[in-house]
Amino acid sequence: GASEALLEVNNIEVIYNHVILVLKGVSLTVPKGGITALLGGNGAGKTTTLKAISNLLHSERGEVTKGSILYRGRRVQDLSPEALVKMGVVQVMEGRHCFEHLTVEENLLTGAYTRRDRAAVQQDLEMVYGYFPRLKERRRSQAGYTSGGEQQMCALGRALMSRPETILLDEPSMGLAPQLVEQIFGIVKRLNEEQGVTFLLAEQNTNVALRFAHRGYILESGRVVMDGPAAELRENPDVKEFYLGVS
Ligand code: ATP
Repeated sequence: GASEALLEVNNIEVIYNHVILVLKGVSLTVPKGGITALLGGNGAGKTTTLKAISNLLHSERGEVTKGSILYRGRRVQDLSPEALVKMGVVQVMEGRHCFEHLTVEENLLTGAYTRRDRAAVQQDLEMVYGYFPRLKERRRSQAGYTSGGEQQMCALGRALMSRPETILLDEPSMGLAPQLVEQIFGIVKRLNEEQGVTFLLAEQNTNVALRFAHRGYILESGRVVMDGPAAELRENPDVKEFYLGVS
């Protein structure tokens, strides 16, 4: 059903450098086929939560010291990011992280590096270009010379090339003009509806995230302080006052 939990984060604690407690017992559920938003201000712990899920904390000297993370009921805490990609979970990191010296198309193809089915990879490339016509126009350009919006599209497109079931998307709006933010979120929504991709997205832009997401979790200082359907959060007086800038 639509509410089947794909990803479950149960009461996790994350500590950096053995001493800095950053997540203080975070729990959240990502239903299959949904768009779930992880909200909160600067430093609330959104990125840390995503990195905990995709096992990217080690290079930051961070570790999950308590709690569990389950994907389709299986404990994934000790899997490598590569193994997680094979299970269908891929992260698009904040700051976009395209390979600057590769062309846009080469970047997209790196997302399919584990796949041997070349015809299908070619088909998926066309699928990505269908969602991002701009990337098709720029396919021979070196990624480092494309705009911030194009790099965000490139990062998302590369993630799609692994045929993910779930995309963990960190701060897609960062550094982009409002019109581009709308465009990126519009594509996220279409990918969700047309390709069935499940999203967990971290976003400081509460306003836009709650318009496109189905559910939201609000983090403050490493704790979930509120969660619920996006439509309810949008109408909540505290959310309005503290996160939507209206009262
Ligand atoms: P932002 O939108 O700024 O990325 P965020 O909600 O994603 O904010 P995190 O990046 O998860 O927040 O950071 C949460 C807290 O952890 C912050 O106080 C930050 O300073 C701290 N932190 C993040 N990375 C490290 C690290 N490698 N070592 C120590 N502290 C860290």
